Amino acid sequence: MTTKLVERFLKYVKIDTKSQEGVETIPSTEKQFNLANLLVEELKAIGLEDARVDEHCVVIATLPSNIEEDITSNIPTICFNAHIDTAPAVSGKDVKPIITKYTGDDIILPRDTSLRISVKEIPELKDYIGTDLIHTDGTTLLGADDKAGIAEIMTAIDELVHTPEKKHGTIKVMFTPDEEVGKGADAVDIEKLGAKYAYTIDGGSMGGYETECFNAAGGKIIIGGYGVHPGSAYGKMINSLRIIPEVLSIFPNDQAPETTQGFESYYHPDAISGQVDGTTIEFILRNFESQGLEDQITYIKNEIAKIQKNHPETTISVEIAKSYRNMKEILDLQPIVAQIASEAIERAGLEVRKDPIRGGTDGARFSFMGLPTPNIFTGGFNYHSKKEFISILGMEKAVETILNIIDLYVENFQ
Ligand SMILES: [Zn+2]
Repeated sequence: MTTKLVERFLKYVKIDTKSQEGVETIPSTEKQFNLANLLVEELKAIGLEDARVDEHCVVIATLPSNIEEDITSNIPTICFNAHIDTAPAVSGKDVKPIITKYTGDDIILPRDTSLRISVKEIPELKDYIGTDLIHTDGTTLLGADDKAGIAEIMTAIDELVHTPEKKHGTIKVMFTPDEEVGKGADAVDIEKLGAKYAYTIDGGSMGGYETECFNAAGGKIIIGGYGVHPGSAYGKMINSLRIIPEVLSIFPNDQAPETTQGFESYYHPDAISGQVDGTTIEFILRNFESQGLEDQITYIKNEIAKIQKNHPETTISVEIAKSYRNMKEILDLQPIVAQIASEAIERAGLEVRKDPIRGGTDGARFSFMGLPTPNIFTGGFNYHSKKEFISILGMEKAVETILNIIDLYVENFQ
């Protein structure tokens, strides 16, 4: 299993599939088809005859159930999903993966020796001494996010096809584009897919699964001003820039992305543009609780109203809109989906870790579209960075976890 798994992974990461922000069409970049087309060929070669890619670069294939008709009707169809694209922020071209046996010493990336993979940064690494890690040469990202997920799903399905004595329900495989630019889920027709539950294989290090992401909102604060030539400004000019510190002071320093972790919420002013006659401050709010997000929104509105009172000479307004929601709401209604994820990881001999996703995920989108979808680890670390790497052991355990999930559906529903 390992050889095929690693071979697949190394082949996929060498295909550049970087997505692009701000593009209307899906996929955002044509090159994502290069990997999608290859995956269709490979799925067909494995024996999934209906494998195809649509015009939006969504790959779908079916592994039919091998259990007698009367029984299969009870076993829900489940889907495994991974994304084809890599993050726009870092180059994914000419990726040169390197396999290193980790000794506990820092791994120095050969083409940029200022970059090192170190146990100081990732204490968890001490558990990987003596195992093989795959990392970059220091010039690109690795693309384990999420080509590891793809390689793991492909390998699990391949195993299943070649062990016909192992019983399984109907399995859907789906690879989607543009996850990194938040648009992949838009291209998916959940009803047509025909799965009842799904798992994205797009998480981090070995043993982790995720059923929660943030509730998210974003907005802007607009400070009005009045520009006059400074030479004749006395009593007339209203300089919006002078009100900025007051506005920024409402964002608590101890509730910032850089000062919070785990399930903690934050306020984050992330862009500012302005001149004398007007300033706009953009910000985002993130909270795992939906009421918590409401409270944050109310807080911002109240604080801005106070600042407005101090400045009757101009207008200070705020606009806030919600974006994505915590999928926990949906997953809590069908607890079996997360239960099976946790049990499958445990059965792979791992310590189960429930991580919060401090961001959005396609799985959250799918969940709200009617397909409950937790996220499972791939074995990778340091995503969206030149220091991205993955543990081969972690990848093997991800394959095992996928196979365990499939088993558990048979056991629970047969
Ligand atoms: Zn990902």
